[in-house]
Amino acid sequence: MFTLITGRTLEQGRTMEIGKFTKDYMDRVAICEINPEDLKKIGVESGSNVKVKTAYGEVVVKAVSSNTTSPGVVFIPMGPWANMVVNPDTQGTGMPNLKGVPCQIEATGEAIPGIYDLLKKISDKTFEAKISKPEVAVSGRSETYSNVVCCFCGCVCDDLEVSVENGKIKSVKNGCAISMAKLLNYDRERAYKPMVRKNGKLVETSLEEALNEAAKILAEAKYPLIYGWSSTSNEAMRHGVYLAELTGGVVDNTSVSCHGPTILGTQQAGVVKATLGQIRNRADLIVYWGCNPVYAHPRHTVRYSAMAKGRFVKGRKERKIVVVDVRPTPTSKIADMFIQVKQGMDYELITALRMAVKDHTIEAPTVAGVPREKILELADMFRSARFGVIFLGMGLTMTSGKGRNLEEAIKLVQDLNEWTKFVLLAMRGHYNVTGTNEVIVWLTGYPYAVDFMLGYPRHNPGITTATDVLIRGDVDAALIVASDPASHFPRKAVEHLAKIPTIVIDPRWSPTASLADVFIPTRYVGIECEGVVYRMDGVPLRAKKLVDPPPEILSDEEVLGKLVEKVEALKLGR
Ligand code: SF4
Repeated sequence: MFTLITGRTLEQGRTMEIGKFTKDYMDRVAICEINPEDLKKIGVESGSNVKVKTAYGEVVVKAVSSNTTSPGVVFIPMGPWANMVVNPDTQGTGMPNLKGVPCQIEATGEAIPGIYDLLKKISDKTFEAKISKPEVAVSGRSETYSNVVCCFCGCVCDDLEVSVENGKIKSVKNGCAISMAKLLNYDRERAYKPMVRKNGKLVETSLEEALNEAAKILAEAKYPLIYGWSSTSNEAMRHGVYLAELTGGVVDNTSVSCHGPTILGTQQAGVVKATLGQIRNRADLIVYWGCNPVYAHPRHTVRYSAMAKGRFVKGRKERKIVVVDVRPTPTSKIADMFIQVKQGMDYELITALRMAVKDHTIEAPTVAGVPREKILELADMFRSARFGVIFLGMGLTMTSGKGRNLEEAIKLVQDLNEWTKFVLLAMRGHYNVTGTNEVIVWLTGYPYAVDFMLGYPRHNPGITTATDVLIRGDVDAALIVASDPASHFPRKAVEHLAKIPTIVIDPRWSPTASLADVFIPTRYVGIECEGVVYRMDGVPLRAKKLVDPPPEILSDEEVLGKLVEKVEALKLGR
């Protein structure tokens, strides 16, 4: 028996932006990293296919030998293959157990399924779109833009330089591998016409007909799910909240499956935060706990944290770096101290650190696999910092404990503020996921999972979270905007999504789009239209328009505005 963990990798992020239906993506994501000793024990060679079985399903992936994966632990990058075997139980938080799932692994002669093969196991509704380039040439403008906002991860780097030639992005300066993959491949895997499902197949139609169908689905639904938002603008999100109110549905955003537990912990304990600018200029101790920015936020360390040249702390030599994780990572290679915590035991380690910081006696010789002396050394390092920061990742939010891990980490930071300046910041993954929480909280008072069934907003994680309403089969229709839950939700949730009438509004074709009943293509915010987005530290930035959109393609904000009018007409008779 092994323990399965899932997570981001650099190649998962890069190839996802080139295209989820490419062989490259499948080669990087349909894999299982296994320690060489474990490979020997189960008689499997690196590069051959294995079947991963859990209590929730099974999937065939390629075994890859990995020295960074501890014996007994295996790793599958997040994506459609991992979703087949993760634990859908959210334990009352909305966040499924995407790490720490017991699994068996065996050699198999079966082939690795493609994305459409996986979707066909879930639903016979699956539609394989003809992914195309625009039929009509876009505008021939040529220009170089500076201070461009990157539209991939929560770092929202705003110093990119992008050259456009004849209406096409030709080069990107200052970007990381993922931002280059995104900006240079934004026109791949797109479908440029609205579609509605007729006789089981999606067929191209006019925007008007697609909007009419979408409005009918939402107006007739008793309890629709309005979900997504992390890759669109705050302006578009505003319409989503109103649609949920209008239809008596539930509006949620992608934070449910990343930092929803962080928000729960923050609601319990409050939080001491700082902007990335303050951290860059002042932090002399940086802790990455349960996160791997070198892979998931590639410019974070150089632009904002470990390696960044600040005004008062001049660079790496003037900082101490600590990484706490269940296995060595590329980020741990740049650390002064790496603490390997036992999988699922972060809470115990944080509690022990709180005891050490307060000079209480720790009697156990090891806590969560970490020797007591190491914990005392770490506590000393924390207390002697002038300005410390803990960056928290999904290693804490996706394991058991979830929001309680975060609550305890926040309390540790509060304890440390009796000694010195210490702050905590969540490593928000997706582009504008922070903005989704901000907008929904302004409008409803709650940051995610907001239910309007009774006509007023209620927030009840574990009940009104998107994952839970899908897994329980509560919702009878869905509107998905700028996100791809079929690639990131557990199989059970996707199975229900495939059963109910679903509308997808997205610039790109995706596994979720292939299960839709109505698909409406839109412009990329930050490439084909402007919009306001939030950086992971809550700083708002205006994303620029770089190229003209394909003809007749509107922004998410415009499409949703039209949809609101049509739903109002059906529901309110306006
Ligand atoms: S670190 Fe994130 S925001 Fe910055 S350039 Fe890379 S993908 Fe874009």
